Amino acid sequence: EAAARRVEELVRLVPDFPEPGVLFRDITPLLADGDAFAQVCAALAVQAGGPVDLVAGMEARGFLLAAPIAVHLGAGLIPVRKAGKLPGPLASESYSLEYGDATIELHPSTIPAGARVLVVDDVLATGGTAAATIRLVERCGATVVGLSFLVEIEALAGRAQLAGHAVHALVSVP
Ligand code: IMP
Repeated sequence: EAAARRVEELVRLVPDFPEPGVLFRDITPLLADGDAFAQVCAALAVQAGGPVDLVAGMEARGFLLAAPIAVHLGAGLIPVRKAGKLPGPLASESYSLEYGDATIELHPSTIPAGARVLVVDDVLATGGTAAATIRLVERCGATVVGLSFLVEIEALAGRAQLAGHAVHALVSVP
């Protein structure tokens, strides 16, 4: 598909960033190409497959995709932030990283019970961030109708953490 080809062309692979052994996927060339950016956002929006009330994007690169997708769908935007950035009242969820923990937060007052939420991020790696986002949304009584990513790294098995949900990636890499 055309949008997938744009991702393959324009997401730059950076070896050993931010630490040795990590192959980082840099989306800035894709963001800088107006046609490709629009095409990719439209493709991610379509993957939702049904009505969406809110699009949740994870700090920081998820914000860059979730906002235009929300506008495209006529939906609202939920910024899912790293701990300490949002004023209360908050809902928080923590998850394990290779070294230590991470915590993400949102404003539950902005997610009505029964809302249909699409979760968007650039990369699905271990799935910890996305799984914690699902827990936050479900604690509000809302429903995650799908999760959309530019790139899924299959070797890290993130999809297994998102069992029972509709997971879409424009590009899956081994
Ligand atoms: P996970 O929680 O292990 O699935 O990691 C996903 C989070 O880490 C997402 O918010 C991504 O933005 C970020 N991430 C992981 N790997 C990469 C990468 O190669 N490029 C850009 N972001 C990445």
